[in-house]
Amino acid sequence: MNRAKGNSKAAKNPDLVIAGGGLAGLALAAILGRAGVRVDIIDPGAAPAPLAGLKASGRTVALMESSLHILRAAGIGAVIEDYGCPLENMRIVDDSRAGDDPITRDFEAHDIGLPRFGMNLPNNILRSALFETISAAKAVRFHGGRVVEHFEAEEQNILVKLDNGETLSARLLAGADGRRSAVRALAGIEIRKHEYGQSAITCVINHSRSHNNTATEFHRPGGPLAFVPMKGNQSSIVWVETTEQAEALIALPRDAFEQTLQTKSANILGGITLETSPECWPLMSLRANALQAPRTVILAEAAHVMSPITAQGLNLSLRDVAALAETVVDALRLGLDPGSSAAVRGFERRRVPDVLSRVTWVDLLNRVVSNDSEPVKDLRRAGLKAVSRIAPLRHAAMRYGLAPSIDQGRLARGLPL
Ligand SMILES: Cc1cc2nc3c(=O)[nH]c(=O)nc-3n(C[C@H](O)[C@H](O)[C@H](O)COP(=O)(O)OP(=O)(O)OC[C@H]3O[C@@H](n4cnc5c(N)ncnc54)[C@H](O)[C@@H]3O)c2cc1C
Repeated sequence: MNRAKGNSKAAKNPDLVIAGGGLAGLALAAILGRAGVRVDIIDPGAAPAPLAGLKASGRTVALMESSLHILRAAGIGAVIEDYGCPLENMRIVDDSRAGDDPITRDFEAHDIGLPRFGMNLPNNILRSALFETISAAKAVRFHGGRVVEHFEAEEQNILVKLDNGETLSARLLAGADGRRSAVRALAGIEIRKHEYGQSAITCVINHSRSHNNTATEFHRPGGPLAFVPMKGNQSSIVWVETTEQAEALIALPRDAFEQTLQTKSANILGGITLETSPECWPLMSLRANALQAPRTVILAEAAHVMSPITAQGLNLSLRDVAALAETVVDALRLGLDPGSSAAVRGFERRRVPDVLSRVTWVDLLNRVVSNDSEPVKDLRRAGLKAVSRIAPLRHAAMRYGLAPSIDQGRLARGLPL
């Protein structure tokens, strides 16, 4: 369906151009395309592999129920149920104090009246499923192998120039083009960024014991190590270490890596073998100083990046997606301009409190759980005991982790667009 390669989709000007066909950009295109909004989506990569027969890649995302509602609006409800593993229990094990017994605490979904917190889903399955939705939507055109090179906001439109010389004229440009966003840079939006000097090792493992739909996170010197349940006897790993240490670990021979992970897992999952090769992802905290410029908005990792601890990144991004989809559709239904300064400023006003509070909170938490000083370890262990023992505190912590208390739009609540 690449227009450059002559697909048959109508060649009208789009309402919206989306830069970036990652999970956030595709979800936005899918939701709007299903509502008949004309969308052109640009990505330097090719179309992802077809869903049929696709095996899970080495990275997964734990998505809370509100995010699953948003993805259902993108038309992939059946895929969520087919490929997702329910997250029913979160277990934290703090064994950061040599010589002391580890502290183990469970946070169960049914404790706050929910059957599950959400689902864990492979990134590549989500991406292929979203791509299939946009391919089926008459209103969406995908420009694979292209990047946004330049744009210029005018009175009524924005002209978006691609690297093949093609110029698209739309009402609004949405930058969902990731942490090194070209749209953000071209719009002159500045950022605050902190590199942690840490990386997350990710892979999928097979194990001999059942995970019982429990995600287990070990807090120990270096950084947290999480085992997140997948379908069957498989789990995905997110293992945070200093970048130097992480690179040394993924360079280990396969059996030595498996053995190291086995020891670190305290055998909770029985025998472990690797299903996918370990990979390393450098961690940072990033926040854009603004979410809009004339006829332009930025969202998802173009606007904010967080450490993967507490699994907030895509959950936050999907709330950006929902807010933007609602903004665009509401404007079009009222015969208004979805790229007007009122619309883009309204989007920014709506999203800033949620983005600011999540990025600040996750940054603080990352510093606390990756800290090896004795007073911080004591504080962390005391905090875990207090939160788990005092029911209202425990419930409040679980509800905050689930979000969204600040931006509860229609889509995040499972209501129609
Ligand atoms: C180890 C790890 C574990 C994680 N676990 C979780 C979790 O459990 N739960 C959770 O909610 N989140 C999690 N996250 C976060 C989540 O994976 C990311 O937030 C999400 O994948 C980012 O999606 P995105 O669409 O914003 O960005 P990206 O996936 O980076 O997509 C950006 C797209 O833009 C394209 N692009 C780049 N430049 C241009 C250009 N000039 N023009 C057009 N397109 C361009 C790129 O090709 C890319 O396809 C995790 C992150 C990590 C690192």
